[in-house]
Amino acid sequence: MPSAPTPLAVLNEVFGYPAFRGQQAAIVDHVAAGGDALVLMPTGGGKSLCYQVPAIVRHRREQGVAVVVSPLIALMHDQVGALEEAGVHAAFLNSTLTLDEAQRIEREMMSGRLVLLYAAPERVTTPRFLAQLDSLHERGLLSLFAIDEAHCVSQWGHDFREDYLGLSVLHERYADVPRIALTATADELTRADIIERLQLGAAQVFISSFDRPNIRYAIVEKDDARRQLLRFIRDEHEGDAGIVYCLSRKKVEETAAWLNDEGIAALPYHAGLDAEVRRRHQDKFLRDDGVVMVATIAFGMGIDKPDVRFVAHLDLPKNIESYYQETGRAGRDGAPADAWMAYGLADVVNQRRMIDESPADEEFKRGQRAKLDALLALAEAHDCRRVRLLAYFGEQSQPCGNCDNCLNPPATWDATEASRKALSCIYRFHQQRGQRFGAGHLIDVLRGKRTDKVAQYGHEKLSTFGIGADLSEQQWRGVLRQLIALGHLRTEGEYNTLELMDSAREVLKGEVQLLLRVPSETPRRGRASRSGAAAKEKAAPIALDDAGQRRYAALKAWRAEVAREHNLPAYVVFHDATLAEMARSRPGSLDDLSGISGVGAKKLEAYGSEILRVLDETA
Ligand code: ADP
Ligand code: ZN
Repeated sequence: MPSAPTPLAVLNEVFGYPAFRGQQAAIVDHVAAGGDALVLMPTGGGKSLCYQVPAIVRHRREQGVAVVVSPLIALMHDQVGALEEAGVHAAFLNSTLTLDEAQRIEREMMSGRLVLLYAAPERVTTPRFLAQLDSLHERGLLSLFAIDEAHCVSQWGHDFREDYLGLSVLHERYADVPRIALTATADELTRADIIERLQLGAAQVFISSFDRPNIRYAIVEKDDARRQLLRFIRDEHEGDAGIVYCLSRKKVEETAAWLNDEGIAALPYHAGLDAEVRRRHQDKFLRDDGVVMVATIAFGMGIDKPDVRFVAHLDLPKNIESYYQETGRAGRDGAPADAWMAYGLADVVNQRRMIDESPADEEFKRGQRAKLDALLALAEAHDCRRVRLLAYFGEQSQPCGNCDNCLNPPATWDATEASRKALSCIYRFHQQRGQRFGAGHLIDVLRGKRTDKVAQYGHEKLSTFGIGADLSEQQWRGVLRQLIALGHLRTEGEYNTLELMDSAREVLKGEVQLLLRVPSETPRRGRASRSGAAAKEKAAPIALDDAGQRRYAALKAWRAEVAREHNLPAYVVFHDATLAEMARSRPGSLDDLSGISGVGAKKLEAYGSEILRVLDETA
């Protein structure tokens, strides 16, 4: 057996990274030595290296091929491309290949020359594929199984896939081959499910902190959501890649069209679009610089684009798990990124109604409501958002200094009296022949507006008519939103009429104090240095002087060329951060260049002299 390199040597040589992050080292050692592992790590934490490095180490010990089970065939091409760029012999088997291509890859696999093979679960569990695995196994050429997005095996999760259930066969058939299952879904039910269904009882569980310190969380009150979004993008993310989530297909289409009209390169993505259109849009998002994807939650799983600079929500997600997963797609490269959400009364009403009207049983609905409540509490919070998020996942932490509430502690106002006025007005409506009304009419009555509807129902005669003229309509919406979020009120039926809940009594009696955020224009991070025409250019991830900027731009142009030639996204060739470091430090020799994080041996050999030439020419 040839002497195998250490995992750290592989990390340095192949990937060009100086050190493992967090738990990576422990995981990699454990798996390379033949142990099973379950890895819980947030998005962007660096899960891929946890199986890629052991696969390479074991391959070099003549232990053959690692099989990576991954649910998204659309993304295998780029993942494999990235490995080949780094000089690691990898391939994928899926339905996009011609018969010839598939046969060639199967030969590579059966010879044991391949280091990593990616395949979808439905293929891995076919008799034909298992027979091939049998043959590899008999010859001692099956090095490792990696099961990515392992939460897909759980019905509790949001992405359940029937085919994942069949993967327990891997343990039954090849008990001596190490398995590593990976997921970014943290909750305990899902975790227990993964262990049981994939028979990972003997696996070591590695749980990383779920904090994503580079993501700045901000939740703003909806006023004119589209304009707020536009301002957010213009002020902070001109030219950046980002994702905007909307609830409905229609809103996705409209928002994308509107952003385009406003001069922002946006594309729609939802399950109602043609598969071909979806593929094309996803490709553009991955490959082009600065595309904004406006999408329903149909978009995102497995998207490993590292430089997504913001994730914006125009509608409330259904719970904190979804919010965290979706926002987690920002800033995988570790550079500053934003999670921005606008939310308002209608969001609360809509989400509650969706639960109420779903065909699920009452117990399930109760669970859903509790989860929604936790998200609403996060949205209404005056204190650190991150502390609350992490607490939800069972992690204690200190105020982060990098969320809207930490940066800009919101003023609050005492809405106890206003709440009582609103509730007693609703109570009066009920008293009048049991009638119910929606928020709009209630606010009109409270503010003493003489509308047709007010006249029709004689509401100007109510004792509550005009008792809330001192508050603006927006303030009233905030009060009602909070009352619904706290469960003192609920909305019903097609017209979202308001109904008092039992606990409203305590508010009416003045036993509950309500503090509300004062809606404010959060001053943003801003990019004072970038203005005018230059603002359209995406900023380098580190500060560069003018000459540095020129070198960075030249390197990016060179990279775009290479990416096009290889039919790969630019970040697969080099990350922005790697190019920026080259532009800053101006390496004068291949040796200097090899010291930069992200420059592995293969890339140095393939591109080193080209890079030095580009740097030289733009000096
Ligand atoms: P995950 O799959 O957990 O979301 P990835 O495996 O895609 O995360 O890694 C996120 C990013 O971090 C990738 O761009 C990867 O190259 C980078 N990365 C991971 N580990 C390291 C490391 N030890 N040093 C430097 N960069 C790393
Ligand atoms: Zn904070």
